[in-house]
Amino acid sequence: MKIRSRLTLQFTGIFSVILLLLLFSIYFLTQQMIRQEFSERLRSRALLRASLHLENQEIDQELFDGFVKKYISVLKDEKFEIYILKKNKSFEEKNKKLKVDNEILRKIIKEKDYYFVINHREYIGLFYDNRGESFLIIVSAVNDFGEKQLSKTGDLLIITFFVLLIIISILGIIFSKRALLPITILTIKANEISASNLHERLLEVESKDEIAELAITINKLLSRLEDSFELQKSFVSNASHELRTPLTSIIGNLEVILSREDRSKQDYEKVLQDSLQSSRQMKDLLNELLMFAQSSIYKESNFQEDIRLDEMLFDASDDLKLKYPDADIQIDFINLPDDAEKLNIKGNKHLLLIVFLNLIDNAIKYSDNKPIKCSLEYTLRGIEIKFIDKGIGIDKNEVSKIFQPFYRAENAREKQGQGIGLALIDKILQAHKAKIKVQSELEIGSTFTVYFPNIVKK
Ligand code: ADP
Repeated sequence: MKIRSRLTLQFTGIFSVILLLLLFSIYFLTQQMIRQEFSERLRSRALLRASLHLENQEIDQELFDGFVKKYISVLKDEKFEIYILKKNKSFEEKNKKLKVDNEILRKIIKEKDYYFVINHREYIGLFYDNRGESFLIIVSAVNDFGEKQLSKTGDLLIITFFVLLIIISILGIIFSKRALLPITILTIKANEISASNLHERLLEVESKDEIAELAITINKLLSRLEDSFELQKSFVSNASHELRTPLTSIIGNLEVILSREDRSKQDYEKVLQDSLQSSRQMKDLLNELLMFAQSSIYKESNFQEDIRLDEMLFDASDDLKLKYPDADIQIDFINLPDDAEKLNIKGNKHLLLIVFLNLIDNAIKYSDNKPIKCSLEYTLRGIEIKFIDKGIGIDKNEVSKIFQPFYRAENAREKQGQGIGLALIDKILQAHKAKIKVQSELEIGSTFTVYFPNIVKK
């Protein structure tokens, strides 16, 4: 069921209940008023009969009725009875016109003035205890006029109920339609937005209601989607471009050598060497691309290996000494814990090794083999590892961009690289709930700090 229909139904339902309560109260109060008024009339009749009885004025029923008809208002089917209370507590009926239960008679004695209704016939009973004589006077009649009035009131209230119900249902439909109109507009507009027009946004109104908030939230979501869409597009075009460069070089070299009439052994060797280097470059790039593509689906279950960070630092350094035999890599430890186990974290060995290898590789690569320093510091809050070089540094306007895939700083272009490493590192560290930050100054050097908070060490 749509929210609109549900709102209308709820609105109408609540209103109907309130209306029914109100109408019932009106009906009940009217009934009370009619009975009250009629009981007064019955009482005055009873009082008259009582005073006649007390003054011992025996009066014939027909004579009395004729007198009442003539001088007082007429009550429909009026009957009366006098019960004399005998010494043995039994009742003696005087004119046997009205039969009332003994139980009710006792109630009249108790209350002295008792009004009651039996089968649409209304009664009033009065009890007198006068100079040794105790008697009850009961007068009864049918409140024909009152009953008709009450039934008319009931009909009127039922009609009022249905008319108001129809009005309120119509109002409910209009009200819910109006209230949900902004959502309907949002839905129509949101349905129009697709990959081809992701730059379009929903209309943000000035008001501060929930719907305006929803529009702002959806717009923010669209912005994020557009960004990642753009990033994906540029990622694909950058990747294709990076792959095309070594491929073009291989094809160019092969075409040149094939176009020559006579080719020496050295020519062949040169082409093969160049092609091998371009192929390695492509393989590296493809490897990094693959890892970067997989980085969005890292699962926490793959991060359960025990890793000693100090040992991993040495492993990475040893690996890179094979690649850069002249490299001077210094490893320092600050504030080591008594228990070496505290340098253990839970994670993925292979991925964390990639982080350390890349950071040390960059430090060596961008500092032209100047000595570099890796320092590991243990604190109660976590473990901090710094990779410090005295190389070319990074322009302060570019520092925030170097973690974007394929971004390479202006001053790094002449060095080999694809610009994927730091983007990959960032993803791997995020998956490990670790952080990375950079401090750098052009021509002075850079410090990359990786921070593993204590929560990583379960
Ligand atoms: P690559 O090194 O393959 O270009 P990275 O993602 O590792 O890709 O680095 C991205 C960019 O960050 C580099 O191109 C370079 O401009 C800058 N950079 C990274 N590390 C350093 C460093 N230690 N010193 C100076 N610049 C660096």
